[in-house]
Amino acid sequence: MADKKNREDLERIYLEEWLHSKIRYEVLTDPDFRAFTDGGLPERLTRADIERYHFFRLKKLLSYVSGNSSFYKDLFDKNHIRPSDIVSLADLEKIPFTDQADLARNPNRFLCGSHGDIARVTTFTTSGTTGPEKRVYCTDGDIERIIEFMGAGMRTVTEKEDVVQIMLPSGRLSNQADLLEQGVLKIGAKAVKAGLNLSSEEQLELIKKHGATVIFGVASPVYRMTQELKDLHALDKLGVKTVFLTSFLADAQKEYLRRIWNCDVHSHYGLTEMGLAVAVECHAHDGYHFNEADLLLEIIDPETGRVLDEGEGELVFTTLTRQGTPLVRYRTNDIARVIPEPCPCGAATLRRFGPVKRRLELIVRLAGGYLIYPSLFDEVFYTLTDVIDYDLRVTGAGGRERLHFTMETTGQDPDIHDRVRRLLFSEPALRPLFAGNTMDEPEIVVVPPGGILQMGRAKKKIIDERVL
Ligand SMILES: [Zn+2]
Repeated sequence: MADKKNREDLERIYLEEWLHSKIRYEVLTDPDFRAFTDGGLPERLTRADIERYHFFRLKKLLSYVSGNSSFYKDLFDKNHIRPSDIVSLADLEKIPFTDQADLARNPNRFLCGSHGDIARVTTFTTSGTTGPEKRVYCTDGDIERIIEFMGAGMRTVTEKEDVVQIMLPSGRLSNQADLLEQGVLKIGAKAVKAGLNLSSEEQLELIKKHGATVIFGVASPVYRMTQELKDLHALDKLGVKTVFLTSFLADAQKEYLRRIWNCDVHSHYGLTEMGLAVAVECHAHDGYHFNEADLLLEIIDPETGRVLDEGEGELVFTTLTRQGTPLVRYRTNDIARVIPEPCPCGAATLRRFGPVKRRLELIVRLAGGYLIYPSLFDEVFYTLTDVIDYDLRVTGAGGRERLHFTMETTGQDPDIHDRVRRLLFSEPALRPLFAGNTMDEPEIVVVPPGGILQMGRAKKKIIDERVL
């Protein structure tokens, strides 16, 4: 029993061990870093050692981009910044932010070296669900680092004997499934790429055939699959020990998945521009640890740009090691909470942030001044366990507005319409939306299973159709 406990403890802080070993490797292989650390590192790395590594990497990055990226060369010239002026991590604040629009406008200005200089260029484009399409280039070395972190992140929930069923889209983002597969193989586990085009029954067949113990996938199809299969099959007896989801999930949904699959549920935070995989929820289920070997994080007040030590703010990342499209102080538009306290999982030297519940592009401001965004409704609607999915349209003109909800349900509750309506008017988070005199009576349409897919799932969950 004691052995098992020790092993679990080790598993739990795997990401921390991984980061420490990456930094130690740097000391062994980079004479400049060795000199920078006065010849070595202590037996047990502290947060200060990690920050020394970050600062060393940051200095390297700044001279790299100022010499190779035409965007940063111009930005630094215009703002009279020389990499040598940055003498501490805190000095990073002297450098202006890079916006998503900057990257979308001309991705080639960020590319370091020419296409020809880079042995193999892998291109990621964002799916365009939020904001303009963006393109980033990766060298072989960049790809290698991405795969390595994907493996390290998966190691949080995966052991060698596990089989990971990967439910990620094929097509333009097929890279993600391929890279994750390689990350899983790297840690010695087995991967099965299932895509998202199979029916729920076909996904189940694959789970049984390969004995999948971990399901990694996009939240909404995994939730849909669960709803479609739960009454027909004993999902809790399949031996799935973890469901690992690519995006935010309401607490009620997580609890539900935990119960139906009889397993642990983790989520992950990713961003194409940062190399897809950024952060994973650890076993403490209280925030995310992220890839601190390759990324530097700041959390800022989105209005003033000031760096925050606590509270909620926008995630801003600097890619410390990226060669193809390095980004300095890149604004993600994603809002999360800084968690300053050490994580209960035991990873005392790792930073963490709370779940990303809001993406700025997905927020709609109503005439009454209230802000609405998907997670606001997710938290409420998914307390109804027969909800499979929903869509929301906002219509209106001249300051009057109306919300139109399409609720896809399992069809078992004849009172679902009234229950949704009651929630809208009774939940403290939603009630104020309808309290003013700018809002008409909401429309609630209930559709049968598959209804929203048949209508063609909108890219955004909240569609703003108001005439301004
Ligand atoms: Zn933790």
